[in-house]
Amino acid sequence: MVLSLDSLMIVTDLDGSLLDHHDYNWDAASEWLTRLKQHQVPLVICSSKTAAEIIPLQKRLGITGAPFIAENGARVVLSGAHTAPTEPSDAYRALCQTLKALQSHFRFNGFHEFSDAEVARFTGLTLAEASQSRLREASEVVLWRDDEHRLAAFRSALAKHNLALTQGGRFWHVMPAGSGKGMALEQIQQHVAQQEGKARITLGLGDGPNDIPMLERADYAVVIKGFSKTPVNLQRSDTQNVYHTAHVGPHGWREGLDYFLAPTE
Ligand SMILES: [Mg+2]
Repeated sequence: MVLSLDSLMIVTDLDGSLLDHHDYNWDAASEWLTRLKQHQVPLVICSSKTAAEIIPLQKRLGITGAPFIAENGARVVLSGAHTAPTEPSDAYRALCQTLKALQSHFRFNGFHEFSDAEVARFTGLTLAEASQSRLREASEVVLWRDDEHRLAAFRSALAKHNLALTQGGRFWHVMPAGSGKGMALEQIQQHVAQQEGKARITLGLGDGPNDIPMLERADYAVVIKGFSKTPVNLQRSDTQNVYHTAHVGPHGWREGLDYFLAPTE
């Protein structure tokens, strides 16, 4: 299948997709990034990372000003110049208060309870990156320390506060109910269609269970081979529009674009 680069939009997960799971490099994808830029194909980052983490990364990728989805869909940023937040939002502080009350019933810890150094230690991020990952606006990252079977009860307790639980690559994410990567993508698709007067064909790439709603929503989906124990099984019947890669990380990312788009010259 060969999709045209005209009126295309790429939506991508970061960790384990565009970025290597271990060292966060994207070398294997760089030829494609250059080509997408030449053809003015919007590259929409769709990640569990915060806006404070994504904005500097967009700069390094050369896509400053593109719309993006942060915090697993809890935060949607439409196009335009953005300034990275310098402190956690009030909504996030309120969310942490709710979680604090739930800690009398469940054993878990949120990112807000740790220092930058602690977060750096258990994520492998640098100190500066850990600090950016803690500048949260709409969701909390949770380290579950209770039994696995208690997760269902935790979900129910969260639902009473209009909150939902999503599994990320490494941690759990507590976010407002009704938000997620799929709904966030829909919002961006509508925004772009409105701005340009017509909808773009979307090609989504992701490797984890939290990418499923985004991969279901995209016109074409690349399921990148991942490290997660939970398989990424899509429910869509148009299997010809879904491609599973043999490679992991940015190599799989390139493989997916090679499959759906005309190969680079
Ligand atoms: Mg991932």
